Amino acid sequence: MDISTFSRHINSSRIEITDSFWKSKMELVRKEVIPYQYEALHDRVIGAEKSYSIENFIKAGEIVKKLKNGEEVPVFPTDKWYYTEENAPQGAFHGWVFQDSDVYKWIEAVGFSLINHPDKDLENKADDIINIVCNAQLPNGYLDTLFIINDREAVFSNLKDWHELYCFGHLAEAAVGYYNATRKRKLLDTACRFADLICDTFGSEKIKGYPGHEIAEMALVKLYEVTENAKYLETARFFIDERGKKPYYYDIVLGRETVNDNYHYNQAHCQPKLQFEAVGHAVRGVYLYSGMADIAKYCKDEELYIACRKLMENIITKKMYITGGIGSTVDGEAFSYDYDLPNDLAYSETCASIGLIFFARRMLEMNPDAEIADAVERALYNTVLSGMSLDGKSFFYVNPLEVLPEASHKDSRKRHIKTVRQKWFGCACCPPNLSRLISSVGEYAFTENDDIVYVHQYIGSRINTENADIEIISDYLNSGGVKIILNPKKSFTLALRIPSWCNKFSFSRKYEIRDGYAYFDIDKRIEINAEFDICVKMIKCSNKVRGNLDKVAVTRGPFVYCMEEIDNGKDLQMIKLHKNTKFTVCGDNIFADGLREKESETLYSEWQDAEFEDIAVKLIPYHKWANRGENEMSVYIRI
Ligand SMILES: [Zn+2]
Repeated sequence: MDISTFSRHINSSRIEITDSFWKSKMELVRKEVIPYQYEALHDRVIGAEKSYSIENFIKAGEIVKKLKNGEEVPVFPTDKWYYTEENAPQGAFHGWVFQDSDVYKWIEAVGFSLINHPDKDLENKADDIINIVCNAQLPNGYLDTLFIINDREAVFSNLKDWHELYCFGHLAEAAVGYYNATRKRKLLDTACRFADLICDTFGSEKIKGYPGHEIAEMALVKLYEVTENAKYLETARFFIDERGKKPYYYDIVLGRETVNDNYHYNQAHCQPKLQFEAVGHAVRGVYLYSGMADIAKYCKDEELYIACRKLMENIITKKMYITGGIGSTVDGEAFSYDYDLPNDLAYSETCASIGLIFFARRMLEMNPDAEIADAVERALYNTVLSGMSLDGKSFFYVNPLEVLPEASHKDSRKRHIKTVRQKWFGCACCPPNLSRLISSVGEYAFTENDDIVYVHQYIGSRINTENADIEIISDYLNSGGVKIILNPKKSFTLALRIPSWCNKFSFSRKYEIRDGYAYFDIDKRIEINAEFDICVKMIKCSNKVRGNLDKVAVTRGPFVYCMEEIDNGKDLQMIKLHKNTKFTVCGDNIFADGLREKESETLYSEWQDAEFEDIAVKLIPYHKWANRGENEMSVYIRI
């Protein structure tokens, strides 16, 4: 672990995205998603499940005021995951235990959006919401509306289930994001006051608890990066060191017998430094691994770094869909065993792929390895984008690779597979997570240290790095061509990732290859032209993935393609490709000569060669599926 080579990501405020593909996604987030979510947080979207988010903050603010005036306030139970108007009284908290986090993710997305596109009206709206949030903080710094409204005595009584430290994590991330965008400190100061309380409450001589749903670890590190207050780093480290120690903290507090298996779900089955296989709830997992990578980096912790390497390798070589989706089972929204990647039962939550990108960025900062940057690309251009409709108005939580609408409607094992994107979820983790990621996509594309600037993703942009002003003009997604214009501030090295899908590439300057990156010495203003051969490929899957035997996925550059019923008719399983099929690229679509097996209604009959008719197969990028009504979809095709 050579810390002198570590790099850091480049803040959004120093990146201007000019890429037409990403700019249009960011504009969609700015014009559609952020305003829609603003209405949803206020429960003003007709037909959508109620959020209660803003209502809870207003209620909590009133309670804080009454407490300050010495007035009596009621107590309600804090015993549920989800509080409805049926099971909780009018004055009590409503929604999911983690409902506050939706407001925070919205504020964070607004921060990034303001960097990309200043908008006074939006900033005023965010400031108003920030005031509502800050008014709900107790004088000791505590801020979680569930416990402020329902029971102030019960705070931190069940860290495993009640998500207070999770909501804190999103508060801190929002505060840092909004501060970086606007330099306004109000939310940051509020987050720091809550962080101070957390640092005073948890530690080796204090309460030895740790978050049930991770994120506080990486969020505390973000607060440390902005404030340079070392106690935030120490508490993040404490949460990671303490996790999974025996006897289990949760058992002690909740008074239960230790059942080790229970804690795989929360990645608390053993200490993180001893975790080498990705297990449990996938979003929690990648959020923990992100925090572990942060601590490995800042505390120079070799053991944690090795665990992170092994976890990343386990995910990308055995537990990741070709679309960059992770967490293949609905049972616990979790990682399954190695090579268990069913297409039609996939969970593959949008947030899990977003979390994988968070984890990958931190790993790339410590060790630029093109395999990890490839995983980011896979997730970004496929599962993450699939999470949002082309009009930015509806969202997938689950991202399957094969869909039969009848199965989703009639088979309870597949009820989680939605056939069309949903307007809004009461449990709305994915849509606001998507908006904050898309709005800050540049932070996952580039890193630098004192001598080297890394380009991990070819996103058209102007970047003000410490080594150089860099302009990237990217036609990467269409022709595979990228022009990089460099205006150095001093002599430095530029490192360009060579995508794993590309066998043929060329650069207009002399380079050296290491770990999948081409390195260039730069000492004057120059341009580098890169050409990546972006031909259509048929990709096979390990034969240990049982469902994909004798099938291929079609890809072009970073995009995985799929067939939809609307283009290819029903029963997509009847379609085959020749092993030497010619592909024609037409705009976003790919056409192929294929075959359709004749239907056989007889359930059993003596084997004979099947009959086929020639057909033209149309494929579209996976992320664009389900934008033309409900229909069958399949990524993998028989060969
Ligand atoms: Zn989610």
